[in-house]
Amino acid sequence: MKPANSLLSAAGTTIFTVMSALAMRHQAINLGQGFPDTEGPRDVVEAAAAALLDQRNQYPPLTGLPELREAVAAANRRFYGLEIDPAAGVVVTSGATEAITACLMALLNPGDEVVLMEPLYDTYMPVVRLLGATPRLVRLQPPHWDLPRAELAAAFGPRTKLLLLNTPMNPTGKVFTPEELGFLAGLLQRHDAYAVCDEVYEHLVFAGARHVPLMTLPGMAGRCLRIGSAGKTFSLTGWKVGYVSGPPDLAGLVAKAHQNLTFATPPNLQRAVALGLAKPEAYFAELAEDLRRQRDLLAAGLERLGFRTLPAQGSYFITADFAPLGFAGGDLAFCEAITA
Ligand code: PMP
Repeated sequence: MKPANSLLSAAGTTIFTVMSALAMRHQAINLGQGFPDTEGPRDVVEAAAAALLDQRNQYPPLTGLPELREAVAAANRRFYGLEIDPAAGVVVTSGATEAITACLMALLNPGDEVVLMEPLYDTYMPVVRLLGATPRLVRLQPPHWDLPRAELAAAFGPRTKLLLLNTPMNPTGKVFTPEELGFLAGLLQRHDAYAVCDEVYEHLVFAGARHVPLMTLPGMAGRCLRIGSAGKTFSLTGWKVGYVSGPPDLAGLVAKAHQNLTFATPPNLQRAVALGLAKPEAYFAELAEDLRRQRDLLAAGLERLGFRTLPAQGSYFITADFAPLGFAGGDLAFCEAITA
C-alpha cells in the first residue's frame, strides 16, 4: 500500500493520552491535562439545555449565530476597547483548536516561515508543518521566561509570514507585558508579518498581571487574529466553542477555512455562550480569583513535598522543578515514576 500522510504517520500518541491512561490504570490524581474540576456557570448550562429543546438543532450560519458574534464584539469592546465588526470580523469555531488551524490555513502558503516561542502548546507545530510552512522556534528560559529579544529578532526574516503568540502562555503561566508586546509589534511591522494570537486564557490572569491583546497596540489591529475559547472562559472545556476576532479581510479568509473544516459549531452551545459573555464583571473576576486560590493551594502543596515552583501569572498551569527531590532521570521518567 502507498504510504499515508508522512507527517501524521510519524507522529506519536499525545502525552495527554499517555499520562491519562497511566493515571487511570493506577488511580492516580491526573495533573497532566488542564481542565477545571467544576462544571461552569449553571445559567449558561441551562441556556444550552433550553436551546436544545427550542429548535436550535439545525445548521447555524457559517460564521456563527448573530447573537454570539454580537456578544464577542461587545466583549472585545468592554474588556479591551477593541472595535470589531460583529458581521464581518468574528468567526465562531469548534473550539480554539479549530480556530488555530483555521487562522493558520487563512494566512500560510507552503514555504512561509512561522515564529513560535517554546515551550509551546502541542497543536501549533504539527499544523504549521502540515500546511507546508517552516517553524522558527525561539525558547524562553525559566525562571523568568524573559523575551530573548536578539534571538527573536534573528528568527524574523523576509520569509516570515506570521508570529503565533500565546498569552497568557501555556505552559509557562507567563503573561506578556505591554512593553514586550511593543517589541513584538515592532518586529511584525518591520517584517510586514501577521500575528495569530491564542488568548484562550485571557480571563485567567492573577493579581499583579494584566492581559493585553497584541491587537490593541498601535498598527496591530489590521495584522492580528485574536482567538478566545468559551471552554476556558466558562470552565466548560468539553463544549469546544471558540471565536476569532479580526479585521474583515482576514476574518473572511478564516471563515473560508472554517467552511472546509467543520462548517459550523453547535447552535445550542453558541446561544449559551452568548449569554455567558454578557455576564457582569464580577463573574470574570471570581473566575480568576477562584483559580488563583487553587494555584496557591497547589503551589504550597508542591513546595511542601520539596518541589521548587515558579510563579504563574495566568492560565491553568504551574511549573514545578523536581531537581531538589534528587530523582535520577528526565521529566517523562519522573512523571511516570510518581504516577505508577
Ligand atoms: N490554546 C491553548 C494555549 C490551550 O491551552 C488550549 C486548551 N488546552 C487550546 C488552545 C484549545 O482550546 P479549545 O478547548 O477551545 O479548543
